[in-house]
Amino acid sequence: MNPTTKPQRSSLVDLDDEELERQLLRQGNLYPTVSRSGHRLFDANGNMPVSAEEREQMVEQVETKFAEIFEILRIDRNDPNSTDTPFRLARMWINELLDGRYSAPPKITVFPNRKDVDELVISKGIKIMSVCSHHWQPISGTCAIGYVPREKVIGLSKFTRIVEWFGRRGQIQEELGEQIADFLIELLDPIALGVVINSKHYCMIARGVEAHDSSTMITSVMRGELSSNQALRNEFLRLIGEQ
Ligand SMILES: [Zn+2]
Repeated sequence: MNPTTKPQRSSLVDLDDEELERQLLRQGNLYPTVSRSGHRLFDANGNMPVSAEEREQMVEQVETKFAEIFEILRIDRNDPNSTDTPFRLARMWINELLDGRYSAPPKITVFPNRKDVDELVISKGIKIMSVCSHHWQPISGTCAIGYVPREKVIGLSKFTRIVEWFGRRGQIQEELGEQIADFLIELLDPIALGVVINSKHYCMIARGVEAHDSSTMITSVMRGELSSNQALRNEFLRLIGEQ
């Protein structure tokens, strides 16, 4: 961008004018790290909570851009089925599919492991709903999480909220599993932790040959004793079975 052009500022910005000016001067146009309206850019599977007001503003801005895309695609918005689609798309992307990017981490209460539980605790069949960062198509499937507690335990339903928070972003499945594992290690400091995800990628289904319709992707992350103790790993895999 021409550095003499004054950037269009929105009312809600991450950077002050001076810092924005400095960063815009420094960066090229190819891979910017700040937007011209003063927002810091971050990875598709990163997290930066925004206010309800900022979300509203984002939906409005994205709706305008989707409407432009419809024009390029020669889709007439007098077609009643397309009239409000740019708005629906904007709202769906920001408030649903990418919701985890813009929401604060779930509040998770941790309890003491009073009975010194030292066996696997497993939750499986946790719903995965995510979006592939490469093609912006849905990823849907299930996740199994198992851990051997040290001093802390959590309610199993909390796994669902953690998976949801990390899933609702642009993801690749490998990193999704690692993010969930990192979060749980930090929260629980368990003796062992395993995260297995089994999902369908609609970028493969929509674009691929017929054989891809039924293909799934499985990733596993094993930490602590689940990575070093073969017997424990086998037990975990047996207990989660075919998800
Ligand atoms: Zn993809």
